[in-house]
Amino acid sequence: MRTKGSHGDPRTARRNRLGSPAEALLRLGFDTRLATFTRAGSYDDAVDEFDVVIVGAGFAGMYMLHRVRGLGMTARLFETAGGVGGTWYWNRYPGARCDVESMQYSYQFSDELQHDWDWTERYATQPEILAYANHVADRFDLWRDMQFDTRVEGASWDDATARWVVSTDPGGECSARFLIMATGCLSCANTPDFPGRDSFRGATYHTGRWPHEGVDFTGLRVGVIGTGSSAIQSIPIIATQAAQLTVFQRTASYSVPAANRLLTADEVREVKEDYAGFRAFNSLMPTAIGSKLPIPEDSALALPTEERDRVFEQRWVEGGLPFLGAFIDLLFSPEANDTAAEFVRGKIREIVDDPRVAELLSPKTVIGCKRLCVDTGYFATFNRPNVELVDVSETPITEITPNGLRVAEREFELDAIVYATGFDAMTGALLTIDVRGRDGRSLRDAWAAGPRTYLGLGTVGFPNFFTISGPGSPSVLTNMIVSIEQHVEWIADCIEYLSENGFDRIEATQDAQDAWVDHVNAIADFTLFPSCNSWYLGANVPGKPRVFMPLLGFPPYVEKCNEVAAKGYEGFALAGSSAS
Ligand SMILES: Cc1cc2nc3c(=O)[nH]c(=O)nc-3n(C[C@H](O)[C@H](O)[C@H](O)COP(=O)(O)OP(=O)(O)OC[C@H]3O[C@@H](n4cnc5c(N)ncnc54)[C@H](O)[C@@H]3O)c2cc1C
Repeated sequence: MRTKGSHGDPRTARRNRLGSPAEALLRLGFDTRLATFTRAGSYDDAVDEFDVVIVGAGFAGMYMLHRVRGLGMTARLFETAGGVGGTWYWNRYPGARCDVESMQYSYQFSDELQHDWDWTERYATQPEILAYANHVADRFDLWRDMQFDTRVEGASWDDATARWVVSTDPGGECSARFLIMATGCLSCANTPDFPGRDSFRGATYHTGRWPHEGVDFTGLRVGVIGTGSSAIQSIPIIATQAAQLTVFQRTASYSVPAANRLLTADEVREVKEDYAGFRAFNSLMPTAIGSKLPIPEDSALALPTEERDRVFEQRWVEGGLPFLGAFIDLLFSPEANDTAAEFVRGKIREIVDDPRVAELLSPKTVIGCKRLCVDTGYFATFNRPNVELVDVSETPITEITPNGLRVAEREFELDAIVYATGFDAMTGALLTIDVRGRDGRSLRDAWAAGPRTYLGLGTVGFPNFFTISGPGSPSVLTNMIVSIEQHVEWIADCIEYLSENGFDRIEATQDAQDAWVDHVNAIADFTLFPSCNSWYLGANVPGKPRVFMPLLGFPPYVEKCNEVAAKGYEGFALAGSSAS
């Protein structure tokens, strides 16, 4: 492979020589047959060679498909689910909604789209977000290149043809020049393997695989296992239906009020009047999430207690994730962090009537080192007479029984068990696929000690393979739709560049990847994130290597990606038969 850096940037010259991106692709041997089909707007199942295969029809896969089409390339998108939406297709549990505000948690790539769509609530519900995803698929005519109820099982790189061969369940194979994984950071549901798990005679649910027809818990004895974000959203609603709700808590979570409400016509208009400015402002935040509250300049330790608590109180009342943006050092200094943690613990003590329950619900760890939860009435739910909190931190769940579950000597009789046990995050969905790169190298082996990527976008040994919001990129530490759009656009530009310049392969170099992994670790070590057991570290999945997977700092990350592209994809090796 030749490294692109040695060629300078011949982009403009080659564009002139090759004509439009679509023509360039055809001349470079991309699939001309399917291009004809695509232009005709029809679809032929016999065609099994594509320029690009995309895995996943969440917000990442949908936008990727749109961009790839815009390059005049042929694509097939495979999706396990029966429809689009990803997270919002699967997570239909009661109370499911976004915790980044709706006006921010939406695409910005199309100005018409963001002006035409009207969000109704500050935090949109799952049905509303799913309706939005379907609207996007309709509006951009995505359906014809998407294949549902189809799981990608394996993919192997054929070095001779420089193509990926992709196999699916139900059976089928196709090939593509580029393989783009839009498989989601939180799409691989994690169900702990309790002894006797399958013996339970009642109904079992996982919040991340909720039945489409909904569940009515009226009059039932329900057990919820887990107290993370999905539990915190669903427990207040399940409690109003169930005869008895028992919540099994291993680790208490910090949660702040959502202060959800209907959006007023005025506030929607105000954002829409300058949507671009609103987006640009948010993109400057480390998490790409903006807030109307002032941008902090102070350390939490610089203020006297009453003044500091006034700031926290203002954020608590305003609601939502910007609580953690109250001071500049909350995620860096343990002492500063403890002021916020103690403020929330104080709120829990105020809200929860029984001091013993309040104490159990009060986290002792660093606030923010696990994703902060956003709730509507979570802590107050434990004041209800039909709700019991069971601490399983010291004495874990012993087994699931035919009638319920047992913790040490006590058996809880249940009619339904809800697993709110989260996901095998960030790598789970990728590693369930048998991905084989150069020389048959497996991704599972390459990442056996934890994921290793360059920019969270590429991996050594896996040419023409991209991961959208992959480990090593900001992904779950941001408003994810913003991160997704940035990755999709970077990948689309990269593919266009390769095509225009006669390259048919791109792969991260070992040096660049090693340096990037060191950089991600160094940033993590500078923060308080590694200080507790979280899914960011893989700590919720037994046997998973303990590696901090996302990267804090959206704006500098974007700058780095832009710089890499501007330098002819520095840190990647590019090769191709017709490259000059
Ligand atoms: C309950 C919940 C609430 C959330 N709220 C927010 C929020 O408020 N703000 C925020 O920024 N983020 C939030 N997130 C994160 C959310 O996942 C992202 O915002 C975003 O929806 C991710 O989109 P995606 O396309 O990358 O992945 P997903 O939406 O997860 O889509 C991935 C798709 O890939 C499919 N897939 C995976 N493997 C295969 C395979 N082998 N073959 C075929 N298909 C496959 C899956 O079925 C899935 O449909 C939330 C996540 C959850 C679970």
